Amino acid sequence: MRSIPLPIQRLIREFNKLPGIGSKTSERFVFHLLRQPTAEIEALARSLHELKDTIRLCSDCFTVSENDFCGICENPERSKQIICVVAEPKDVMAFEKTGTYSGVYHVLGGVIDHAHGTGPDQLRIKELLTRVASGGVTEIILATNPDMEGETTAAFIAKQLKDQSSIQITKIARGLPMGGNIEFADEITLGNAMSGRQNI
Ligand SMILES: [Zn+2]
Repeated sequence: MRSIPLPIQRLIREFNKLPGIGSKTSERFVFHLLRQPTAEIEALARSLHELKDTIRLCSDCFTVSENDFCGICENPERSKQIICVVAEPKDVMAFEKTGTYSGVYHVLGGVIDHAHGTGPDQLRIKELLTRVASGGVTEIILATNPDMEGETTAAFIAKQLKDQSSIQITKIARGLPMGGNIEFADEITLGNAMSGRQNI
């Protein structure tokens, strides 16, 4: 690799750290960028900087936001009575793309995964229970991935909620294949899973 200029090697290594990006793709990215006008490169660099400087978590639902409260929580047309519980902000994005859900969200920040040392205390379950306890919520939709960790997490939260209150608890329908992933489900499947949700 000594024949390749260091800045190029460095950027290839950086892209290579991204999920699903191998070294061949990283190289293609770098050589593509080299051919772009300076203004394009500067816009990309600015976006990368802004990502860390301006993005924080919504104080209510913990999805990514530019402000204290995200655009969904601040939207008066969204129903605060229905909370859809998801693992990650990218799941919020997946449900938003379906355009069929008009409630709000609660992002747990992961799932219960004892094999990797994540227990319920590391997730924002307490915060969810607090939101429910503060009143006005009529339904909690559990929308974790249909895999073992997602199911374990949903079952744990359902039990906590049932111990605390008598609100309706639903789970998105199993249009999603077992072991599947909300992030990669197409919009129609995900929209159907949401509208076909069932009481648990
Ligand atoms: Zn929010």
